Amino acid sequence: MVTAYIALGANLGDAEAAIRQAFIAINALPGGSVKKTSSLYKTAPLETLHGYAPGGDYINAVVEIETSLSAPALLQHLQQIEQAAGRVRPHINAPRTLDLDLLLYGEGRIDSTSLTVPHPRMWQRAFVLVPLAEIAPRLVTANALKAVEDQPVVRTR
Ligand code: AMP
Repeated sequence: MVTAYIALGANLGDAEAAIRQAFIAINALPGGSVKKTSSLYKTAPLETLHGYAPGGDYINAVVEIETSLSAPALLQHLQQIEQAAGRVRPHINAPRTLDLDLLLYGEGRIDSTSLTVPHPRMWQRAFVLVPLAEIAPRLVTANALKAVEDQPVVRTR
């Protein structure tokens, strides 16, 4: 079994419901289960911070799973969950209702055309690091959190 971390984000429709539904879907994947879920965090979209408001706030969270799936197989399952969530609220040109990123896969380092692990942008994103630090404090240093402290992320519940 490998311990992996997945970042979840949603900002369309009922974003909180989309994240809670994704917790359930990830837990139901073959070959493993969810071990920890972070609180839900609210993040203003960058565009809103700059004065225009294209969508609602983002809801973000991170889950820890144990899995016997390979990293590419896990990514495929996560993409299926994203697609299923997208179909719940069809909307012309809608961005996806749900975004799932594989952050870490054990100690694995992967750099293929379809998958890069650790996720290349995770260290620049407070909405990833803050929930990750909540459930896996040893993985996120104080310096890493300090580097993104100018990005507002509000813990909801
Ligand atoms: P995004 O729009 O950010 O969800 O990006 C999705 C694309 O990123 C897909 O084509 C994936 O194959 C690719 N990708 C590369 N590395 C990762 C990762 N660690 N987690 C999720 N998607 C990834």
